[in-house]
Amino acid sequence: MSRAAKSKGENMIAQKGARRMKPASHFIDSLYDATLALLYPQACDVCGASVEARADGLVCAACWRETRIFSEDDTLCWKCGAPSNATISVEKRMDVRCRRCDGDAYDGARACGVYQGALRASILALKREPHVATRVAHLLYETEQRAPLSTATLIIPVPLHPERYVERGFNQATILGGALSNLTGLPLDEWSLVRTRHTERHRAGMDAQARRESVAKAFEVARPRLIENESILLIDDVLTTGATVSACAAALKAAGARSVFVLTLARP
Ligand SMILES: [Zn+2]
Ligand SMILES: [Zn+2]
Repeated sequence: MSRAAKSKGENMIAQKGARRMKPASHFIDSLYDATLALLYPQACDVCGASVEARADGLVCAACWRETRIFSEDDTLCWKCGAPSNATISVEKRMDVRCRRCDGDAYDGARACGVYQGALRASILALKREPHVATRVAHLLYETEQRAPLSTATLIIPVPLHPERYVERGFNQATILGGALSNLTGLPLDEWSLVRTRHTERHRAGMDAQARRESVAKAFEVARPRLIENESILLIDDVLTTGATVSACAAALKAAGARSVFVLTLARP
C-alpha cells in the first residue's frame, strides 16, 4: 500500500469511532517525535547520539537494543531470577535454582533485564525525575505478565528511607508501581508497608550477612487487613543482594499475605 493510500485508510478508520483511532494517533505520535527531535535534539544518556522516539526516554534505540533484556527464552533461577547461560527445556524451567536465594522470604523475583546500558541510565534518571518512559513501563508490564509474577493481585512499592524521601521528594519505586498499575489495572498500595527505622548506611567491609541483619527488622505492615490473603507484587528499581525485598516479604507474610513476588527494572 502506498503511503498516501495508507494515510487515507487511517483517516477512514479514525472516522469509524474512538476504539479504532490507534493508527491515526500512532501517526501523530511519530510526527510529533520527529518534530521534537528536530527542534530539541535529546542526547542519549548512554552514547550521546540523538534520541528519536519519546517512548525510549533518555536513551536511543541502538543503546536499548544493546541492553540485555530477559525474555521467556532465558534460563533463570525460578526463585530469584538470576540468569544462567545454560539452556534447559521449557518443562524443566520451574526446577532451576541458584541455591544462593534459598533463605530469601519472597516466592519469586524477576527483573526486566541486566543493570547496564539503557536500564542503568533509566534507573539513574528515575532518581532525578519522577517519570517513567513508555518503553520502561512496557518492559515492566511484559515481565509482570509472565510466570511466576502473573498471579499477583496487589502492587506494593519498596518504601524509601524516610530521610531519603525528604531529600528526593518522591519514591522511585512508587513511580514504577504507578506506571505498572496503569497498564495492568492492579491496585497500588503505597501505605500498608512502612520502613520503621533508618537502616544504617552500608559500611565498607559489612558482609552480606551483616547487611541482612541490619535490614531484617526495618519493615512493618501498617494495615494488615488490606494485605491479608493478597498475592503481593513488591516493586523496586534494582535488585542487588535481595536482602531488602526479602525483609519486606517476611514482614508481609507475617502479616497474612498469601504470597510475595518481586519485580525490579534491573539486577546485576
Ligand atoms: Zn545511545
Ligand atoms: Zn536464585
